[in-house]
Amino acid sequence: AAQPQRSPIMRQFKKSSKLDNVLYDVRGPVADEANRMESEGLRILKLNIGNPAPFGFRTPDEVIQDMRLQLPDCEGYSDSHGLFSARKAIMQYAQIKHIPNVSMDGIYTGNGVSELINLCMQALLDNGDEILIPSPDYPLWTACATLSGGVPVHYICDEQAEWCPDIADIESKVTSRTKAIVIINPNNPTGAVYPREILEQIVEVARKHQLMIFSDEIYDRLCMDGHEHISIASLAPDLPCVTFSGLSKSHMIAGYRIGWMILSGNRRCMEDFTYGVNMLSNMRLCSNVPAQSIVQTALWGHQSVEGYVRPGGRVYEQRNYVYEALNSIPGISAVKPKAAFYIFPKIDVKKFNITDDEQFALDLLHQKRILITRGGGFNWHEPDHFRIVYLPRMEVLHEAMEDLADFFAHYRQ
Ligand code: PLP
Repeated sequence: AAQPQRSPIMRQFKKSSKLDNVLYDVRGPVADEANRMESEGLRILKLNIGNPAPFGFRTPDEVIQDMRLQLPDCEGYSDSHGLFSARKAIMQYAQIKHIPNVSMDGIYTGNGVSELINLCMQALLDNGDEILIPSPDYPLWTACATLSGGVPVHYICDEQAEWCPDIADIESKVTSRTKAIVIINPNNPTGAVYPREILEQIVEVARKHQLMIFSDEIYDRLCMDGHEHISIASLAPDLPCVTFSGLSKSHMIAGYRIGWMILSGNRRCMEDFTYGVNMLSNMRLCSNVPAQSIVQTALWGHQSVEGYVRPGGRVYEQRNYVYEALNSIPGISAVKPKAAFYIFPKIDVKKFNITDDEQFALDLLHQKRILITRGGGFNWHEPDHFRIVYLPRMEVLHEAMEDLADFFAHYRQ
């Protein structure tokens, strides 16, 4: 009988070295440990991901109904920029936000803003090119900049100034290799909304050093207490700007995967970049078509999110509660978020003898079965912060805050 062929010992397949410095801790090692604990039958309260639907937030019925009706017509690929109807609706949205010099060919839909962040970083950055990114940040920006070979340079957002960007710090970090600046407004993880004066100062720095501006505005419809959201692109008609938004958060449909980006302002100086964006956009064929088909209805129909963020609404009331509860814990302090659904409290690390925020997150998980994301997960360079997602219902938050207070009352003391 024929002998079975002996296979040689297979070589190891290592991940690409491009990933060596890429970090995405929102779903990182502590979250893996939480999943492991869940698989053993333990109940974990997950306050780590900004995913509204599992916490009972619903999109307006008309959006779902619209998708149902349109589904049979969404079998094919769309234009790689996106459906005409979706882009037209986004164009009108851009007009309302006073974003100048927008045309249909400068609008792209994506499988969430996530895909478009990656696409832009790949299109813009050569090895060693620097890009200014906030600290703390939504970590996908740093991850995608790194993956594309660029160098993320973090500028500080100042907790003492309600988490606004520190303009002097930005200015001090510009070098001859800096190509762009990223702002996240409203901000994840801090909940800050930037006032006009701050945006104008950022524009001034970008103008002086000829930087491209990327503005992630996915939470623009979740502002509270009357805070007005201003698109930075509306203040920079002479500069190359890319503005990102989508329906994941404002319409509570993160699972449908629909976002967009809008090129505006000085389009001439980004012709070559646009060529690159078009190439990458073509290479991914198009974004999810059923999700594109509801953009028009979602943007211009009933805005259920408005009810959530005004007094009496769930996001508003939960924010107030969590803010008060955290600040009443000895050793914890937090700035009141103005938008979105995150809070980024500060820990008195001396009091609790904390030097490693991952260990702190693991200790909290093991002792109280609460999963948060450590500050380091947002490229914050001290072990003294963490992020809480305050989407769960009030009774769940009550329990979580009591557990948290109890945890800190005994932690390392
Ligand atoms: N930008 C920010 C600031 C976010 O917080 C998130 C998701 O949490 C995203 C982008 C990604 O959103 P999308 O669901 O559109 O990919």
